Amino acid sequence: MPALLCGCGSAPGPRFEGGAQPSARPPAPSPEPSFSPPAEPLPSLEPTTRAPEHPPEKTVNWYMSQVPKFTKAPRPEPVDVPHGSATPWWSRVPTQHRVAFITIDDGGLSRTSEALELIKRADIPVTMFLNSPAAANHTAYFKAIQATGAHVQNHTVTHRNLKGQTYDFQHKEIKDCSDRLEGLFGARPYLFRPPFGNYDGVTLKAARDCGVRVSLFWTQTVHEGVVRYQTAQKVVKPGDVMLMHFRPALADDLIGALKAMHESGVTPARLEDYLPRST
Ligand SMILES: [Zn+2]
Repeated sequence: MPALLCGCGSAPGPRFEGGAQPSARPPAPSPEPSFSPPAEPLPSLEPTTRAPEHPPEKTVNWYMSQVPKFTKAPRPEPVDVPHGSATPWWSRVPTQHRVAFITIDDGGLSRTSEALELIKRADIPVTMFLNSPAAANHTAYFKAIQATGAHVQNHTVTHRNLKGQTYDFQHKEIKDCSDRLEGLFGARPYLFRPPFGNYDGVTLKAARDCGVRVSLFWTQTVHEGVVRYQTAQKVVKPGDVMLMHFRPALADDLIGALKAMHESGVTPARLEDYLPRST
């Protein structure tokens, strides 16, 4: 189906202040004056000539200034997960709470300091679905995000399309990834996202055999700050799962996701609080 662009870039933004949580510090006052006169008189005699407006310099402080002020998230309630020989396949979490979830995939392409600082300072709850080689090559970066309370979950070793592959192939991709991530981060993944969101019945069986509770798709994707909805209704609904990637524009994607949530009246929450390891 065609992807639908949201109009969040042109929508009137809410007033922003501080971080996503009441405990977050208020924004520091800008150290720069709002207008800087030129250092030297301009040779031009045209007094009406103005320098073009500069686009904002995207510092971490600027990103922080874009974080909407959310109402406090409700106390999380773990949802029921069906038992059986295969994991369920969910696009969203079955909760009535007005919360939505941010998931960030892959890890090998790009890891920006702006995104890390934004996650830390704004206290954004995120879940990382990592490929294990990327996690091994850049462990310190992902551990810094883990230290904010984020969990590391399974996205296979090689990021190959699992659909149609043998059980042994799929099982190895999932198990080897979990083994590696557990060794690196001290906790075994129990949520799984197959590469490209492609799966078949074998995938869900292999995932369950590797200790996965739920295999997850998504309800929105975010790229370069633009939210793309899976449905015509451009709303983030309770339980929705937003997908973005460790790419150069991740900080913009986080802001785009937060603004879309805010405009939809939902608050970001931690996926694992609703889908704990066990109930
Ligand atoms: Zn991926």
